[in-house]
Formats: sequence, structure tokens, C-alpha cells
Amino acid sequence: MASGETVVQCSCGFEAGFDRLRDAREALAVHEDAGHEADWHIETVADGVELAGADAGVCGRPECTNEDSPLYRDDV
Ligand SMILES: [Zn+2]
Repeated sequence: MASGETVVQCSCGFEAGFDRLRDAREALAVHEDAGHEADWHIETVADGVELAGADAGVCGRPECTNEDSPLYRDDV
């Protein structure tokens, strides 16, 4: 993946950067399981890439997709 770190932010005030996406996902899951509004993004030099990556998810699986994104389609 691109250089940079994955930053997880949560409505409870949690914010942390992770070098490994897997670690970020685990942190995200903990907060989402607790009913928090958690989100993540990748800190890179290209803002457009950062946004698209966060919206689309990194692997294309439904659980990685941001359903609030205009890029999200639930009819596919
Ligand atoms: Zn939280």
C-alpha cells in the first residue's frame, strides 16, 4: 500500500494512527461494536486518493465499504 498510516477516528474522541491496516481495522471494529461512529482514512500526500480509498474500502468487500459515501451502491 501507499506510504503513510491509517488513521482511525471515532465519535467518542478516539484517534490513532496505525502502520498496518489490519491493526486499524481491529481498532475500528472495537468501536463500531460498541455502537460508536468510527471512521478511518489513510494519510497520504494525495488527498483525492485518500478520499476515494476511504469511500471505496481497500478490498471491495461490503464490510469495508462506507455506506454513507456517494460512491456506495447497494444494488450491485
Ligand atoms: Zn469509539
